[in-house]
Amino acid sequence: MNKGFCEECNSLVEYEVKEINDSIEIKGKKYNYKRLIGYCKNCGEEISSSEINDENLNRIDKVYRNEENIITTEKINKILNKYKIGKKPLSKLLGWGEITLIRYLNGDVPSKVYSEQLYNILNNEDYMSKLIEENKGLITERAYNNVKETIRKLKEKTFECSIEKEIDIIAKYIIAIGKEITPLALQKILYYAQGFYKAFFGKFLFEEDCQAWVHGPVFVDIYEKYKEFKSANIFIDIDYDIEDMIVDEKREILDAVIKYFGYYNGKALEKMSHYETPWINARKGLLPTENSNNIINKEDIKEYFEKVKSKYDMLNVLDIKKYSDDQFKRVIEI
Ligand SMILES: [Zn+2]
Repeated sequence: MNKGFCEECNSLVEYEVKEINDSIEIKGKKYNYKRLIGYCKNCGEEISSSEINDENLNRIDKVYRNEENIITTEKINKILNKYKIGKKPLSKLLGWGEITLIRYLNGDVPSKVYSEQLYNILNNEDYMSKLIEENKGLITERAYNNVKETIRKLKEKTFECSIEKEIDIIAKYIIAIGKEITPLALQKILYYAQGFYKAFFGKFLFEEDCQAWVHGPVFVDIYEKYKEFKSANIFIDIDYDIEDMIVDEKREILDAVIKYFGYYNGKALEKMSHYETPWINARKGLLPTENSNNIINKEDIKEYFEKVKSKYDMLNVLDIKKYSDDQFKRVIEI
């Protein structure tokens, strides 16, 4: 439960969150954003909460970087992962001070010119190739070889992935990041990720429909792919950097769902899904053990998870935990 300090009540209180349109001036320019305000559930006065303050600062930072097209710290981290290069060597390659990049990773906002350079590196492997060739002398031979080899693999991988579907890549990501994922758990994590992604970002994570099987929602193609593992953990070799294949926004949801649902075993997750309307609706008129290929309506999924998001006052994806905690309690109460 969210708690904040109410001056009127002079105590920590539960609060309700509302969103208002607000703007802030930075260097003489106005930026519009949606600001969160918490109201005391006892007296209705505005409360102060560090959780809300942090989220508002986050939003301002996001809006500013978005409008000015300034790279985010997340994307800078992505560069380091993508090319397997350290902060200092990259800073040097760019001809910057050794700790410049570290400052950006700690939240400092880069200038437009610097930001553009970073974008270029992130999005263009040829640009990075050129950069390491031209500035070879500035980094160690080992760092140089590492980056070079990584770029070679990246290009190979781009080709491999151009023939894979989004849902396949996402399933692999869940298996790689989640560790100890059984086929049953994989299905449920895909399902929750699909629902919460829609609720948070207004789009579906992938286009495939799922069916309302006896054991919960199932994406059939993925089921076919991994069924040989039965109730054991899935083990596959993923020889490319799966993290780079999925956009940040999607990874945000996936990571949260993996963290808060992947923790439970497939059976618990199956039971959770049996309390949820999309699956229930799709199985109307069926006996509990009756097989069915009924499609779970995407509109039902959308509606259900939007309701969950608002019922649990979810401010950001980490709040998904509130729901998984609650669902698990229901599962063990029976
Ligand atoms: Zn109060």
